[in-house]
Amino acid sequence: MQLNNLHFPGKEGAINLEILDGKITSIRPSLPERITANSVSPENKLSPDNRSSQNNSHSSNNRPAPDNRPVPDNRTSPDNRSSPDNRLPSDLSLSFNNALVFPGLINSHDHLDFNLFPSFGKRIYRNYREWGADIQTLNKDEIAAILKIPQPLRTRWGLYKNLLNGFTTVVNHGDRLETNDNLITVFQDYHCMHSVGFEKRWKWKLNSPWKTRYPFVLHVGEGTDTAAKLEIDRLLRWNLFKRPLVGVHGVAMNEVQASFFKALVWCPASNYFLLDGTASVDRLKKNVPLLFGTDSTLTASWNSWDQIRIAREENKVTDTELLDMLTTTPAAIWGLTGCGELTTGSRADLVIARPREGLKGMDAFYAISPEDLLLVLHKGNIRLFDASLLETPSAGGLPVSSFYKTAIGNSFKYIQGDLPGLMQEILRYYPELVFPATTG
Ligand SMILES: [Zn+2]
Repeated sequence: MQLNNLHFPGKEGAINLEILDGKITSIRPSLPERITANSVSPENKLSPDNRSSQNNSHSSNNRPAPDNRPVPDNRTSPDNRSSPDNRLPSDLSLSFNNALVFPGLINSHDHLDFNLFPSFGKRIYRNYREWGADIQTLNKDEIAAILKIPQPLRTRWGLYKNLLNGFTTVVNHGDRLETNDNLITVFQDYHCMHSVGFEKRWKWKLNSPWKTRYPFVLHVGEGTDTAAKLEIDRLLRWNLFKRPLVGVHGVAMNEVQASFFKALVWCPASNYFLLDGTASVDRLKKNVPLLFGTDSTLTASWNSWDQIRIAREENKVTDTELLDMLTTTPAAIWGLTGCGELTTGSRADLVIARPREGLKGMDAFYAISPEDLLLVLHKGNIRLFDASLLETPSAGGLPVSSFYKTAIGNSFKYIQGDLPGLMQEILRYYPELVFPATTG
């Protein structure tokens, strides 16, 4: 399978990728004749004005209508559904017109089962304890109503939230969830604690002789007050055996404290929502590797690209450093071999996206939104593709019949699994919910 004429953000020249058995087997410069032989101009075919008519032409074209298929019976445990083999046919060749390609992104902090919550919080807080107490009082009924939606359904939606944003790996925080890797990879191989404030018996857990296999991950320094800073000192003082620590947030963290952590997950959108401030990553980056996290919709938008733009506008890290925080650095910290990079032999986790008109290089990359994603591959399997790809000459190799069509903004995506059915099921429990995706 061949993906042609793609641009890596910030790199000169176009490349062609070959993929076989879930891996990238070759990366070569694009030759001009290949670009013109089989090219499609998605940006010309997907202007907002003609997207709906394009949709109609598909359905009148005797293509399968995946959105109308019956919903499987086992909807209450969607995570256990068998995974269709969406591996691309080896002779499939898709050529793009100046599209961007980058490794499947790695989200280093989310609470997968919390992504049906709206953002709760009525004011700026000094720390997460104040916020927690506030929402448990002010939003008690809404919280209870959403928690009545079965956890497998909430988790499944959390997986889709990540996929729709181009994440092919997510680090889930909280109870270990039963998921499989048939949509994206869920990384949970670490010792999870909530925080010094909310984790019971945290000192025992941190120093337990049975918890030595993995790093500990917990929210730290999520506040702008002295208490948030002192909490980090307390954690470090009680880390008697110098267990590896990955901190999340670190808004109150200083450079000295940072040097005792294996990594810090930066969640700027969540921080600004709660605290109207974020971590001093310009100083902290000298002493600790940085990773990027979205957190859940309890404190941040479902659109992770808006969050990435908030991070970029901080001007505390370079464009390359921010891209590394979403790819190579988390792959190294979490031990995700073959992920976070596009090299020969690496795993075929990758995203192809349509750049906004007139933008190039890193500006084009950082202007992406979920509707711009053209193709998401995870382990060499298609998980999502844009309807515009059906215009390509070799579109017959695309797995339309086993995918469901869904509208994201002004675009239509074919997505693995029954996302429309999942949304309908969730609405049975909570009819007021509004999803960012609708049945196409
Ligand atoms: Zn969190």
